[in-house]
Amino acid sequence: MRFFFPDSQDQVDPTFDFVTEEHDPFRVRQRDDLYAHEVLTGAPFDGLLVSKAIVDGQVGSSAGKYTVAQRHRLYREGARRFFRLDHGNTPLKIMGDCGAFSYVSEVEPPYTVNEVIDFYHGCGFDYGISVDHVIFQYDPAASSDEAEQKGWAKRQRITLELAEKFRDRCDARGVTFTPYGVAQGWSPESYAAAVEKLQDFGYRHIALGGMVPLKSRDILACLAAVKPVLKDGMEVHLLGVSRCDDVPRFTEGGVTSFDSTSPFRQAFKDDRDNFYTPSRTYVALRVPQVDGNAKLKARIRSGEIGQGKAIELERKALDQLRRFDKDDTDVEAVVEALREYSDLWDGKSDRSSQYRETLTDRPWRDCSCDLCRKHGIEIAIFRGSERNKRRGFHNLYVFEQQVRARQARKDPA
Ligand SMILES: [Zn+2]
Repeated sequence: MRFFFPDSQDQVDPTFDFVTEEHDPFRVRQRDDLYAHEVLTGAPFDGLLVSKAIVDGQVGSSAGKYTVAQRHRLYREGARRFFRLDHGNTPLKIMGDCGAFSYVSEVEPPYTVNEVIDFYHGCGFDYGISVDHVIFQYDPAASSDEAEQKGWAKRQRITLELAEKFRDRCDARGVTFTPYGVAQGWSPESYAAAVEKLQDFGYRHIALGGMVPLKSRDILACLAAVKPVLKDGMEVHLLGVSRCDDVPRFTEGGVTSFDSTSPFRQAFKDDRDNFYTPSRTYVALRVPQVDGNAKLKARIRSGEIGQGKAIELERKALDQLRRFDKDDTDVEAVVEALREYSDLWDGKSDRSSQYRETLTDRPWRDCSCDLCRKHGIEIAIFRGSERNKRRGFHNLYVFEQQVRARQARKDPA
């Protein structure tokens, strides 16, 4: 099972000083900041998934992930150099897709087949996924009339027509990447029918799309319908997995690769499961920056809270955490400092018992990833992007180890 990480230009600054919280004044973000595969010995994934929509920026959205200069450099240098794939000690692959979720509300995909091939071929990708149109709904009971009325059948036809054209154009142009055909559907049967068509077009590699919002049992039902129609040796990629616990069952369903941002994003989007360990997840220790917390700032502005008080409690919490990591204070003193500050910036949720668990077990001390070894308790602090992204990279590391371990248990070589 191969794991691809969707690129969103998430990097960390190696010059960031955790005590002063300052960046090196000479740091050049594009040059100096590092990807997960550069800060961890052994990349925590087999490759990156790069979406055309992320690179190009989305229609109607000004804050793209790529600057114009970055986009040009990606095309000029190619993906291997741009992502510095050869800097880590694990060979990585690059898979490209269109980022169909970004144009889900359009009537037709905004890209032509040739434009998408230019993107994959021009950037030197290893794999390229055909142009698709996501069907956002799932309804196994829908009749074919309903699927037609609701526009789902039309989206599937568009996706299949583009896949056929993509396949033909790839052959005609002699591209160096491996083409994947996308199957879109709204039910197990409709996914199976799409997969059969793609195989008729000559695809040996298939991606199953539109499954991000689906529940695990629905994904498994689709895989169960698809598996009997798969020809021998077919490679199947599952686009966007949000519940990583189910990965072993997806393998049994015939999936050979998948991509997911979940382990990374949970580090700063999830309220509970934001610090991974091989056996369980922990709650990271929240110490928001006085400057960075909108609610707190508003209360300071209104005069409800003194800024000096807020800064004092923030400092005290950080100080207690660092002293704790040097065995210079005990769990209760840290929990108390976190609670005092939390009363000020949050005042609603009391996470004391969860923090007590995290502090007692000190999971960062048992982790062998480069980041925990280098930064210690800083990884477990929920605060600002330099820490949160590092914890996200740590989560990717733990997740990748779990996928490998399950794989090894399944097929003892
Ligand atoms: Zn770690």
